[in-house]
Amino acid sequence: MSEQIISLAARMSQIKPSPTLAVNAKAKEMKAAGADILNFSVGEPDFPTPDHVCEAGKQAIDEKFTRYTAVPGIPELREAIVRRYKEDHGWEYDADQVQVSCGGKHGLYNMAQALFGPGDEVLIPTPYWVSYPPIVTLTGATPVLVPLDEKDDFDLTRENLSKYVTEKTRGIILNSPSNPTGAVFSAKALRLVADMALAKGWVVISDDIYDTIVYGDEPLAHILDVAPELKEQVMLSNGVSKSFAMTGWRIGYTLGPKHVIAAMNKIQSQSTSNPSSVAQRAALAAVAGPQDFPGVMKESFLPRRDYIIGELTAIPDVTCVVPKGAFYVFPNLSAYYGKSYDGKVIEGSVDMSAYLLEKSFMATVPGAAFGADDFVRFSFAASMDDIKEGMRRLQEAIANLV
Ligand SMILES: *Cc1c(COP(=O)(O)O)cnc(C)c1O
Repeated sequence: MSEQIISLAARMSQIKPSPTLAVNAKAKEMKAAGADILNFSVGEPDFPTPDHVCEAGKQAIDEKFTRYTAVPGIPELREAIVRRYKEDHGWEYDADQVQVSCGGKHGLYNMAQALFGPGDEVLIPTPYWVSYPPIVTLTGATPVLVPLDEKDDFDLTRENLSKYVTEKTRGIILNSPSNPTGAVFSAKALRLVADMALAKGWVVISDDIYDTIVYGDEPLAHILDVAPELKEQVMLSNGVSKSFAMTGWRIGYTLGPKHVIAAMNKIQSQSTSNPSSVAQRAALAAVAGPQDFPGVMKESFLPRRDYIIGELTAIPDVTCVVPKGAFYVFPNLSAYYGKSYDGKVIEGSVDMSAYLLEKSFMATVPGAAFGADDFVRFSFAASMDDIKEGMRRLQEAIANLV
């Protein structure tokens, strides 16, 4: 090993490696060695990008649309996003209130850099999406985790929220439907957030990346419908990664007050510049074109959701909130913590995921990665055959614990 001469920045000590990495690395290693691994750890739709979107990308290449574009994205795409929001929700934005970035995650990163700094606290309902705490930490601000209760269907309540509010609170990050739970926030919870935000001047960040994958007939409650008067304090984060199965194209977008978008554009201009010109043209076809694709995916996810929920809750002492959106289930397997296999005790979700991988050849993500150690995340963006076999293996694995 070579001697380490150059030291890392102090901030690196504040960021932990993701607990998912160990399981993922192991799964890859086993797969490479020929094991029949069922993968329930993926965070993306199991659909190819629709043809008309791919064609638009190809056409952009054929036309040599391959140079720098405007930093916040091509005007046609920003205008199409504005029209889509107006048409779908009735919300009014101007094109200069939109930033297109290299994925939804990058938009959230730009936003946090533009809004937060040392001394600020940002509320993060927990279980949270893995990237929210580090994105906040990297600004120098403090992520404040607000635990949600499975018994409340992971909804926010006055009791859990008010405990974590201080004079330093600057904002909150909402994700509904949620990755990892699939839960959605009720209109009542959103009203509560809106009232606090109005009283204290918070920013409310609404990560709506799964808003087209919502099950059932009830429309998704949204902070801007519940509290239109809050609009100047709301940042919308979205993108085409999940809705159009475009994770690899790296296109996300943010809508919000003009001065915040302008600040985010400054950051983007000094870091990535514009997102890929070709990917922007493809995203334009997705946003401006026919909108049936997310519905087609949803129809196909629904029977898989129902099947996996049925099988999970058939296991004694396992509970699982029925996801109202997205494509994840988040069963509580903690009744089996403390049990053993091969003389090894399962202490928590990381051990449980490791056990399922080692003995049952199935990759999952431990709840610890989302700040909720009682749970394990399964993605049902997998084939029905894999889900059936996976649930059989899970039931067997649980039954084998002593
Ligand atoms: C997938 C995802 C995103 C955005 O992902 P990108 O690939 O960067 O567009 C944002 N938030 C959540 C909760 C997600 O699961």
